[in-house]
Amino acid sequence: MTVSLVLRRASERIGASVGLDAIEAAIEARALLCAALDVDRVWLIVHAQDELEAPNLHEFEKMVERRLKGEPVAYIAGFREFYGAKFRVTRDVLIPRPETELLVDLALECMPEDGKVLDLGTGSGAIAVSIARLRKSAAICAIDKSPAALEIAKENGRDLPNIDYVESDWFEALPDEKYDLIVSNPPYIAEGDEHLKDLQFEPSLALTSGRDGLDAIRRIVQDAPSHLKAGGWLLFEHGYDQGGKCRKLLSKKFYEVATWRDLSGNDRVSGGRLTSA
Ligand code: GLN
Repeated sequence: MTVSLVLRRASERIGASVGLDAIEAAIEARALLCAALDVDRVWLIVHAQDELEAPNLHEFEKMVERRLKGEPVAYIAGFREFYGAKFRVTRDVLIPRPETELLVDLALECMPEDGKVLDLGTGSGAIAVSIARLRKSAAICAIDKSPAALEIAKENGRDLPNIDYVESDWFEALPDEKYDLIVSNPPYIAEGDEHLKDLQFEPSLALTSGRDGLDAIRRIVQDAPSHLKAGGWLLFEHGYDQGGKCRKLLSKKFYEVATWRDLSGNDRVSGGRLTSA
């Protein structure tokens, strides 16, 4: 079978069983074939009429089968793009989402060029690595409770000497250090929320946080002041309907409290500056 035919058949199967339109399904089929063959999208176009070799076809078929069972493409391919770079992902970490790029944009605006930054619950390291890549003179501390996640973050940040990795349950195991900026994409989905059925391949540690989804955020807002310099920023991601509650939590200790919207127009990041240490 030719590359072009294999792609067409896979797109149809993915579209029908995952419930995607033709364009989305074709994008997924291409991404999986690129991963199976270890080539880029241009290669697929140039070689559209080439016959696929049996072992490659078999490898691709296995990937398509996983997708048909609902597993996200990023886990099957083993990577996801975020903030212009490729991140390795496994089922130990949340798949980086495009809306989290807003948090990186804000972090880069709010931090001093050579600032000290703490990333709480770093997961794949998407936020810490993106900041460290663009602010070479900054010092980033990336923490996670999951040792398996930290290994992935280390791999993603392997070329960046300005990141330290610490295994810690939020602030618990942190050195006695004050930061210019604390960032986090914590779990924020309420236990039992109906969205969780679409996220069953991702680690629940990275997704859910108590009955209203705000347990982690409450803890972060409460403990952040003793780890921030006066005037330092706290910025964190949250659900589309949590902006008001997050600003209320922040307003006790922080000023310039605000919520920012993502590209879909949803409240996505809230934050503020510490009034005094
Ligand atoms: N943004 C993710 C989702 O709703 C959740 C990520 C998180 O809880 N931090 O799909």
